[in-house]
Amino acid sequence: MSEFDAIFVGAGHNSLACAAHLALKGWKAAIFERSATIGGAVQTHEFTLPGFRHDFGAMNLSLFAGSAFHRKYANELKTHGLEFAPVGDCFASAFPDGRWFGVSNDLEKTASRLAGFSAADAATWRRLVAGFMPEAEHLFRLLGSPMSGRALAGTAWNLWRKKGFSGALDTGRLLLSSTRAWLEETFESPHVRATLAAWGMHLDFAPDIAGGAVFPYLESMVNQSFGMVLGKGGADTMIRALSGMVTAAGGKIATGAEVAEITVAGGRATGVRLASGDFHIASKAVIAGVAPRALTGKLLPDGSGDAGFDAAMKKFRYAPGTMMIHLALDELPDWRAGAELRQFAYVHLAPSLDAMSRTYQQAMAGMLPDEPVLVVGQPTAIDPSRAPEGKHVLWVQVRMLPAEILGDAAGKIAPDRWDEVKQAYAERVLDIIDSYAPGLRQKILGRAVFSPLDLERENPNLVGGDQVCGSHHLTQNFLFRPARGYAGWNTPVANLHLTGAATWPGAGTGAASGYMLAQQLGGN
Ligand SMILES: Cc1cc2nc3c(=O)[nH]c(=O)nc-3n(C[C@H](O)[C@H](O)[C@H](O)COP(=O)(O)OP(=O)(O)OC[C@H]3O[C@@H](n4cnc5c(N)ncnc54)[C@H](O)[C@@H]3O)c2cc1C
Repeated sequence: MSEFDAIFVGAGHNSLACAAHLALKGWKAAIFERSATIGGAVQTHEFTLPGFRHDFGAMNLSLFAGSAFHRKYANELKTHGLEFAPVGDCFASAFPDGRWFGVSNDLEKTASRLAGFSAADAATWRRLVAGFMPEAEHLFRLLGSPMSGRALAGTAWNLWRKKGFSGALDTGRLLLSSTRAWLEETFESPHVRATLAAWGMHLDFAPDIAGGAVFPYLESMVNQSFGMVLGKGGADTMIRALSGMVTAAGGKIATGAEVAEITVAGGRATGVRLASGDFHIASKAVIAGVAPRALTGKLLPDGSGDAGFDAAMKKFRYAPGTMMIHLALDELPDWRAGAELRQFAYVHLAPSLDAMSRTYQQAMAGMLPDEPVLVVGQPTAIDPSRAPEGKHVLWVQVRMLPAEILGDAAGKIAPDRWDEVKQAYAERVLDIIDSYAPGLRQKILGRAVFSPLDLERENPNLVGGDQVCGSHHLTQNFLFRPARGYAGWNTPVANLHLTGAATWPGAGTGAASGYMLAQQLGGN
């Protein structure tokens, strides 16, 4: 048995960032991770063949690069090996009619592509880009502040002061809009609308869901204004740097160390019991980077002592799942729509708003979508160090899929467990890519397929393969994430805090929940 100031359940990047800050403030911190590898959804492995490095989950590290944590600790992270690979040609969509549209960091490039679809849309884009920084100030302040009535009031006051009442209402309206509502009133080209709408599908914002517009808006404007970044050599560069910071500051990280129980006495968290039977004491805080369903009746066998909180943790809603297909390739896909697509970090195959809505609805109904949305990541187009010379990896994210399969929208795959159908479904995905990039199959040197169930096996926070650890719809975001009254990373158990994607401000690699909690506990 050892005693620490803070004990962390799980080594996701939020826990690592939180532990790093607290350790630098003099706290004795220990992180217990059940897997053999730390990083949770951010890991890089040779899943297919030696020398081919695949990002298990997150590939785009822009949120981390732009985070408050990175701003504060850029030097320390660099000392511990953090390296980014900047991206100029950020995201594009290829369409069945042979056309494509893409957003590059160079405004003239993006605008001239836009003009090929609509002169009005090109002008609108320039106007949006010019107005982005004044708008972003408020959105980033909102997303980068602790979620409390007070913080919200501060953001609203600043917004009103800078933009006036009407301007503030416009920002509020954007935050409430569905992707379709915003895109249809802003752009006239269906190709442009579909290209931007695909970003909502990275979360669980199909085009018709209220609150979805802000993600495509921010991704488009951020990519246009600042580009994107990947991790040099793999996304795990950020995890190695974070863990380096933790251990250099005296923190301990144990792998293969599943936490079976958070011990509680007198309404206060006192430490953890590991699956191995070992106990460890936490004198100041236990910080759980877990999905809400792991708490009541599991890590907290007797519950939290607050029936409302326990019910909310059980009712927490997860989003549809993801399949990941990692390919080792002889060369990049031959995109029918244009060779320029080979330069982009992401090529989305999501042909229209209606197709995306249908895919989401099929997944929600338990059906295997006949035409899933595909995010085709081409990291080696930007960072060739991830594969042997001249070779490539493809990172294919298949959105959105049911956790439990009740049927097949295409009527071809008999419903069964994911282990039984995943290879057949991966063939459907490869057929789709092949229809946009003929000859893909002949270029494949190796493949690794992770079904939604496999994702959850790797990391239990990815419930049913939900890559964002809980729906981000309005009723489960802002003051409601993970539940009303608990958006401040607190729980009814004194000294027990939550961090991670299930907590405000949600999923992504921005380390925001971990860093804000760390500042709350240990000061700035
Ligand atoms: C396929 C996929 C693609 C993604 N792509 C991107 C992207 O490109 N860009 C982006 O910004 N975001 C992306 N995301 C989202 C982002 O990666 C996650 O939201 C984020 O990494 C979650 O971090 P976290 O701190 O919540 O912890 P997690 O990464 O969820 O890690 C939690 C850790 O806790 C461990 N754990 C759980 N229970 C226990 C226990 N009882 N005892 C010990 N350990 C435990 C788990 O094993 C895991 O290692 C993606 C996610 C996925 C899955």
